Amino acid sequence: METILSLNNLTKRFGKVTAVDNLSFSIEKGNVYGILGPNGSGKSTTLGMVLNVVNKTSGDFKWFNGKLSTHEALKKVGAIIEHPNFYPYMTAEQNLALVCKIKGTNRDKIHEKLEIVGLLDRKDSKFKTFSLGMKQRLAIASALLNDPEILILDEPTNGLDPQGIHQIREIIRKIAAGGTTILLASHLLDEVEKVCSHVVIIRKGVKLYSGPVDEIINSHGFFELKASDMQRLEELLKDHPKIGKITDKEGLLTAFLDDPMDAEEINRYLFEKGLSLSYLIKRRESLEEQFLQLTNQTSSN
Ligand code: ADP
Ligand code: MG
Repeated sequence: METILSLNNLTKRFGKVTAVDNLSFSIEKGNVYGILGPNGSGKSTTLGMVLNVVNKTSGDFKWFNGKLSTHEALKKVGAIIEHPNFYPYMTAEQNLALVCKIKGTNRDKIHEKLEIVGLLDRKDSKFKTFSLGMKQRLAIASALLNDPEILILDEPTNGLDPQGIHQIREIIRKIAAGGTTILLASHLLDEVEKVCSHVVIIRKGVKLYSGPVDEIINSHGFFELKASDMQRLEELLKDHPKIGKITDKEGLLTAFLDDPMDAEEINRYLFEKGLSLSYLIKRRESLEEQFLQLTNQTSSN
């Protein structure tokens, strides 16, 4: 595995507000990472720090295992962190040619990148005639001009209509399929679930989870149970080695599994202990439920 970026206890304080709080994670080549968190959770500040546009308070980050200076490393990064800014009266192609001139990259990639974002047939249209989605796509093409190792996008579908959102997500998938590592920030669970292989979930600048997207769903699930003697039911569940956390919600017990177990096994166990159930169902959290659970977990702090 090749590490593209690693964060080590990265922290940013704005006065009394700790926007990013001891954040650590790393980004391996070829994956698509989502930084997921509600608005104000520190996603943009995190991206700003690693892109050297926001000064960190403490901790550190390393690009490409620290082999290059941040300045050199950032030449291999394509990023869109603000609203795309192009010249309104210049065409898509002219705008990209100007970007090439500024960045000192070769102009012969312009058509290839316009093709990737589905704008090749609009290359001669003035930027001011573009929809918001097309402007965002042009920004992606622009960020790809130097064939970056990693593409960084901050809320890439914000403000777009459903069709525009779909197009951007398809483009991200296509770029990822071509082997480019991607890091995107989003407050949309659905977006991260659809396009990312890995996720870092943050809330108030604190990391709650990081790992493969499908491993969040790969919990062993939980049982919902009822019996006439709820107290005895809870005691028996607590004694069971495969059962972890138990919650009581309006007369319904939820027992989370630490190890795999089917409904038949728990039913038999309880029956052998002399308890009959009046209700038993096995469920598994959707990613949304898990996300809400994760983000609620620390809401009392
Ligand atoms: P997100 O991108 O997840 O919505 P941000 O990184 O923009 O979150 O913001 C995280 C926190 O830092 C918020 O509480 C925000 O108000 C605060 N913050 C961000 N930028 C600044 C700034 N330049 N000055 C003061 N506070 C800021
Ligand atoms: Mg943001």
